[in-house]
Amino acid sequence: LHLPYFAEGTVVSGFGRGSKELGIPTANFPDDVIQKLPADFECGVYYGWAKINNDENIYQMVLCVGWNPYYHNTVKTMETHIIHKFDHDFYGQHLKTIILGYIRPMCNFESLDSLIAAIHKDIADAVEHLKEPECLKYSQHPFFSQPP
Ligand code: ADP
Ligand code: MG
Repeated sequence: LHLPYFAEGTVVSGFGRGSKELGIPTANFPDDVIQKLPADFECGVYYGWAKINNDENIYQMVLCVGWNPYYHNTVKTMETHIIHKFDHDFYGQHLKTIILGYIRPMCNFESLDSLIAAIHKDIADAVEHLKEPECLKYSQHPFFSQPP
């Protein structure tokens, strides 16, 4: 409906729900970016491309739009897991994303293991989808070449 969706903003800290400890850190977008989301933008897990600052690399990512339990599920969150192993954090840096496709709705998992397994499957799905020419072309989109 709203895809592809272009989102960019400064990476802020989340609520330290331990994503990094699970090996799946998620970079949070700030409120101003979330406020711009169309009201009917569905919660769930998406895939697409991401870029940090003016770095040369365009990375594959999975992005989740959900409700923030910290605010009693009245405020949305937008969190990006970049499918790349970084040796540093990038809080305060400028993150650009192009959201291309929907993978699944958010769901409650019975255990941490099943959550982690689901995310690994999301990542595998994302990697597959992003090989498609219609997806690949967005990695070259001018959005990524404009300075932040
Ligand atoms: P927080 O609750 O602050 O979001 P996380 O445990 O989710 O904490 O870690 C997110 C942070 O980890 C990001 O803001 C970013 O600086 C860093 N980071 C390192 N590698 C990645 C990655 N591959 N994808 C997303 N964020 C990453
Ligand atoms: Mg996070």
